[in-house]
Parts: sequence; structure tokens; C-alpha cells
Amino acid sequence: MKWLNYLANLFKSKTKAVCPFCGADEVHYEICILLEERADGYMDIWCDACHERDSQSIRSFDDSIPRVA
Ligand SMILES: [Zn+2]
Repeated sequence: MKWLNYLANLFKSKTKAVCPFCGADEVHYEICILLEERADGYMDIWCDACHERDSQSIRSFDDSIPRVA
């Protein structure tokens, strides 16, 4: 749930925040679109400091944020 809240904020604000688990500014993510026509795919997100990570499916991704950060 912490990552879901983080992602909601990321897509809304278009900026990365600090890790919701340890507070480090070391969060990275990678969006992989598997079906470009529908912009469906998945997203990995993780923290290099505490190694918390998550993976979520994505639908209708509109490139409003970079695919890798
Ligand atoms: Zn962390």
C-alpha cells in the first residue's frame, strides 16, 4: 500500500519523492510497455537504500512521466 500511495503521488505530481519505507532519496522505477497500441505493461519500483520493491501493472500509460528514473 505504501508503494501504491507513492505511485499515485508520482503520477499526479510528476516528481519522485523519498522512499516511503526508509526516507532515502534513492527510489528508482522502470516502466515496461508490452503492448504499445494500448500502452499496457508493468512497472517496477524500488529503493536502492532499503531494497523495498514492488511491481504493478499499467494500463493506458501516456508518457506523462519518464519511463525510467
Ligand atoms: Zn527505502
